[in-house]
Amino acid sequence: MYDVIISGAGPAGSKCAEILAKSGFNVALIEKDTSWRKPCGGAVNSRIFKYYPQLRRMDFHRINGIKIYSADFHNFEYRWRDIMDYSLHVDRLKFDNFLRDIAVDAGAELFDNNLSYDFITKENSRIGIKTKISSGIQEYKGKIIIIADGMSSKLARKSGLKKQWKIEEIGNAKCAIMEGENNLDKEVMSLFFKSYKGYGWLFPLEDNKFNMGCGIIGEDNLKYNLNQIYREFWNDPNIKKFFPKKNYRKIWEGAYPLPSQGVLEKSLYGDNIMLIGDIAGFVSPISGEGICASVVSGKVAAETAINALEKEDVSKQTLKNYKFNPTIKKISRGFKLTLSLVDFCFENQGQNLSKMFKIAEYDDDFREKLVNMFLFSEAPSKDFIMKLKSEK
Ligand SMILES: Cc1cc2nc3c(=O)[nH]c(=O)nc-3n(C[C@H](O)[C@H](O)[C@H](O)COP(=O)(O)OP(=O)(O)OC[C@H]3O[C@@H](n4cnc5c(N)ncnc54)[C@H](O)[C@@H]3O)c2cc1C
Repeated sequence: MYDVIISGAGPAGSKCAEILAKSGFNVALIEKDTSWRKPCGGAVNSRIFKYYPQLRRMDFHRINGIKIYSADFHNFEYRWRDIMDYSLHVDRLKFDNFLRDIAVDAGAELFDNNLSYDFITKENSRIGIKTKISSGIQEYKGKIIIIADGMSSKLARKSGLKKQWKIEEIGNAKCAIMEGENNLDKEVMSLFFKSYKGYGWLFPLEDNKFNMGCGIIGEDNLKYNLNQIYREFWNDPNIKKFFPKKNYRKIWEGAYPLPSQGVLEKSLYGDNIMLIGDIAGFVSPISGEGICASVVSGKVAAETAINALEKEDVSKQTLKNYKFNPTIKKISRGFKLTLSLVDFCFENQGQNLSKMFKIAEYDDDFREKLVNMFLFSEAPSKDFIMKLKSEK
């Protein structure tokens, strides 16, 4: 019997497991496959150091600038070397296993090659989860169940907290880690917004490697084919100029969905259950950045669980503190405001976005706010929106 069972050892699940284990609780961290590399750009903003100071000792690639392009290639660059901490570009395989190791060192029990698929129930209550393993079926019983197994979660649907994703609620993205001579500025990440709801990225990595990819948001998934826009992105002459050679080695390639509507406030908790990370919508609706917010959701869910276990009350009355935690409310509010800007940004084939970038070319204050919105999921201020609306 565990105090807490966590399904999914991504960034959200690992942080949650670490905090619970550190406080002396028995935690089962269930993972389908620790050798799976989550399809991801791997850009992690500097806020991560607050939650994982250990990352400073690692040799992940460091970034201190961003260049953002609109569909018509208006662009601006922002460097933060002397203003704030560096961000990281990581290989998710190495990064996720690093975070898992921290959870295990704190005392969590990691069960690899376990695919969770259903709950164990008794008298209409959830008392654990069932997983598929190579030799059959395994059962884990626990007082609280935390679902952190990402977009494809079966448990989230079976819990009744989350219905099947609708197309307008998700983005779809494809990316690759490539290697070869390139002209990318090693300290700068580049984002390329499109005339439809979508974006591409070029993220430099160590040596001659880089992560390139693109995504489509919401209903535009019905109008555009991901594989096609991915090919077009790579072959775009504006992109090709970074890659003067003919041959580039593809080290790895993958595609995956991500939530695009912000935090799913109605799906966060129930009796003895909480949803964290991607499956709960902790991803910026405009930039697709979700690693840091997922870690924060894992931390707050762990603190909520600790409080519930100490009170010996794991009912939804106690677990609602997760949703109403000030940090979660701040993230949720920020994503809501950003979401309201997404439609506006992409209106008239992305012309509003071009307008933003034009203002950013001459207005330092506006540029900084724009960067904070894209990079740190900060809510745009009223001044920012007024300025945008008044710009011809
Ligand atoms: C293509 C793409 C690019 C992205 N780029 C960025 C980026 O550059 N920066 C950024 O911050 N965010 C990015 N994101 C978002 C980011 O990947 C997620 O927000 C983040 O990984 C969420 O963490 P998580 O722990 O909630 O879920 P995940 O990282 O998805 O982890 C879920 C874990 O659960 C496991 N699992 C799944 N199903 C089961 C099961 N049935 N049983 C047991 N275990 C299971 C998985 O193996 C995985 O380890 C991107 C997303 C995509 C799709």
